[in-house]
Amino acid sequence: MSACVDPVVGKILAGWRYDISGLAPEMRGDYEAHFVACEFCRSRQQIHRAIDVSLIVLASVSAGAFLLAFGVIHHFAPRHSLILELAALCGFALSALIWLVVAVATPAPMAVVDVAKLGARHVHDRLPPEIRERLPEELRMKLTGS
Ligand SMILES: [Zn+2]
Repeated sequence: MSACVDPVVGKILAGWRYDISGLAPEMRGDYEAHFVACEFCRSRQQIHRAIDVSLIVLASVSAGAFLLAFGVIHHFAPRHSLILELAALCGFALSALIWLVVAVATPAPMAVVDVAKLGARHVHDRLPPEIRERLPEELRMKLTGS
């Protein structure tokens, strides 16, 4: 936990913010092996993915809040409502931009998909066998990977 078992690999991974999802599968092997062997890098990877996901969530909440503000201002139409509406729309646009940047620049969407897959598999495993058998083959392959 205290230090990386292979500082050279660890440094490369740190430069990528511990994101190897963009690598070709044949290049990924060594780094995946390092994540298995190195607790330090594994915990760093989890921290970085948690940051990415919380950024996305924050940007979504912020965009929603600005949109709500716009709706409230529009509905009650106070004095200077045009300026306030413009401010709310600018806030929304900024939040949407941040959301987009985070979604494009980080593997946060993939992390969310992974969590969703894990949840779906969990549900699948709890289904009674007779219902599980009725699921389309393709869907079952995606959930269980077998
Ligand atoms: Zn390491």
